Amino acid sequence: MTRSSKKPQICSDCGEKTLSKNEIGLCKKLLGEQSKRLICIDCLAQFLDVTVELLQEKIEEFQEEGCTLFEPK
Ligand SMILES: [Zn+2]
Repeated sequence: MTRSSKKPQICSDCGEKTLSKNEIGLCKKLLGEQSKRLICIDCLAQFLDVTVELLQEKIEEFQEEGCTLFEPK
């Protein structure tokens, strides 16, 4: 592993927001594990043409499934 995991991941769309583990997990879930597009929840909502609330519900669903891509509840 040459990639530092300490560096915060910045949204690749707005280039401003630091991504939480949940946001990165959500991108992988909804855009595909191999997706290079890691974006914040606001940009993801715009990109998918859904509401931020819906994405937050999705995060909770995945958390309840115990998906390791997300922060444990
Ligand atoms: Zn963004």
